Amino acid sequence: MSSTPLQVSPIAVLKDAGRYQPPVRPAGMKLVIDLNEGPAPTPDILARLAAVDGETLRRYPDATALETRLAARFGLPASRVVVTAGGDDAIERLCRAVLSPGKELILPSPSFEMFKRYAKFAGASVTEPAWPEGRFPIDAVLAAVTPNTAMIAVVSPNNPTGAVATADDLRRVAAAAPHALILLDGAYAEFADEDLTALALTLPNVVMVRTFSKARGLAGLRVGYALAPERVADWMRAVGAPFAVSSVSIAIAGHDLDNNDARLAATVAQVKVERERIRRVLEQLGAQPVPSQANFVLARVKDPVAVRDALFAQGVAVRAFTGKPGMENLLRIGCPANAAEMDFLETALRSAFGR
Ligand code: PMP
Repeated sequence: MSSTPLQVSPIAVLKDAGRYQPPVRPAGMKLVIDLNEGPAPTPDILARLAAVDGETLRRYPDATALETRLAARFGLPASRVVVTAGGDDAIERLCRAVLSPGKELILPSPSFEMFKRYAKFAGASVTEPAWPEGRFPIDAVLAAVTPNTAMIAVVSPNNPTGAVATADDLRRVAAAAPHALILLDGAYAEFADEDLTALALTLPNVVMVRTFSKARGLAGLRVGYALAPERVADWMRAVGAPFAVSSVSIAIAGHDLDNNDARLAATVAQVKVERERIRRVLEQLGAQPVPSQANFVLARVKDPVAVRDALFAQGVAVRAFTGKPGMENLLRIGCPANAAEMDFLETALRSAFGR
């Protein structure tokens, strides 16, 4: 083998970014709540999966029918809906479409780490106003806007905190930066008290990204979508792979959309009860939970790695953020969206905190 170095992208940060590291988790966990996933699929989903036919597998996928169904739900023309390989793919396409060297992303942080990665791969710089919890840092975000701001991320509810932006925040950000794309990431939107979707669809520089991965419990399918202004939807189709989402995934997501709204509502109701219970238990155990409107609770904990390991020992996988500057004392606990598992989690938490 030749040792001649390969040519690499001139974007200097590329080599430093490394790969996404999924949470550390021992084998044999009984309850995995470290990636904010949803509940297990219902039998009708598995039956639909078993009914996938040979033609579906043989042909290249066509997401048009799913885009049309989503568009009807949101009262949009199908041209404004882009189905993507999870929300990740939507975020990545948007970063590639609007970010480049000399441009800036404003990302209230901590937040979902892929934003920063995709921005760096596009050669852009990232400005990170602090948003540790509570209200969206509207003043800091507005103060950070420059003529080079090409994207502002409004992740609401935010990951890993569960904090939300309001309609007023979204309106003000969009108005203050008409030259920038506002990416409203609604991966956890179903769990929030206020739904920003209708407002987002009226603003000319806002694109909303959503997913089947969380409240619909279908992360393995890799189906997300963007509700975008027409020209932004065009950019997303231009920069994306022609057949990004598998035909099987499109079929199952369509089935879920047509049949499982009651199940979705039940999941959301269950999660709202669970996150309050997790918050209360953590508070009793001396941790400092952050109010959350997502399907997880973040807490400040004296020794998160020790608590995480004590939970691992009981078969419960939660997320500590070792090696992430500023996040060393945080622990993120997902809501199981299942009553029996929630009881199990409470018992495990009490034991892990030594009470
Ligand atoms: N946005 C946020 C805030 C997330 O937390 C995640 C997943 N962790 C995503 C987007 C992407 O999810 P997916 O690609 O599964 O839709």
